[in-house]
Amino acid sequence: MSNISAANSTNALGKPLHGGVALVTGGSRGIGKAIAKRLAALGAAVGICGRDEEKLMLASRELEAGGAKVLANRADVTKEADIRAFVDATEKRLGAITILVNNAGTGGGGFGAIQEKSEAEWDQVMNTNLKSVFFVSRAVIPGMIQRRGGDIINISSLAGKNTFAGGGIYCASKWGLQGLCGCMAEDLRAHGIRVSVICPGSVATDFTGRGPKDPGKVLTADDVAHAVAMVAAQGAQSFISEVQMRPVAKP
Ligand code: NDP
Repeated sequence: MSNISAANSTNALGKPLHGGVALVTGGSRGIGKAIAKRLAALGAAVGICGRDEEKLMLASRELEAGGAKVLANRADVTKEADIRAFVDATEKRLGAITILVNNAGTGGGGFGAIQEKSEAEWDQVMNTNLKSVFFVSRAVIPGMIQRRGGDIINISSLAGKNTFAGGGIYCASKWGLQGLCGCMAEDLRAHGIRVSVICPGSVATDFTGRGPKDPGKVLTADDVAHAVAMVAAQGAQSFISEVQMRPVAKP
């Protein structure tokens, strides 16, 4: 495979992503912030977005304090105009995007039996977890095709592989994401672009999921960041298409 990303060789500084630019949606807190930090530590410049400007600025300062080159923009991933502006600003300030991490997501009001759910709750979860990936990927892919390389890493969930009571809307969004990513992967392979999905089980973040989490039986945001870094830094000829993650201790 040609020129997949800047991720394929370790440079003299031992930073395999040196020279690359990673765009991480929802990089202001939780899993996204951990991913942005990890990719920056491997040498990538990072663009992060979220809706809460204060959290975004805090994350940006934290990343800069670690030596990262950062662009933090307020953007709602359910709004295509916000996404276009965020992608343009990232490329203008940091350079061509080599790694896209579609991470922003919500449980929102999505958990519960579907007969109790409203159309607004359906729209919020589906637009944030699924439609956003269509919007952001559509904005980034043409540049990657032109440069014949890139990595698109999508944060799905084990809820995209399994079903459970009360998970109707959230599971539908993540099963939809699995399907979208599988097809995108086939569309883009010939262009030297890899599309991968990471499917974590429960992770200790502010995410409102199915209820309280036992802290001894969950993954950490850093665990997920580790998997993303592994995918981003894999060899040029290799394509890790899916990673499933569980805590060692059974919930
Ligand atoms: P958090 O709630 O901790 O963080 C979510 C991030 O996404 C925040 O940065 C938030 O910023 C951003 N975000 C949410 N909605 C939007 C929006 N409309 N526009 C822009 N940014 C948005 O969640 P996690 O870090 O736990 O989750 C990250 C991803 O991991 C999600 O896709 C989730 O489905 C997935 N996941 C999480 C698991 C868990 O147990 N935590 C398990 C498996 C998968 P802001 O609110 O400021 O917009």
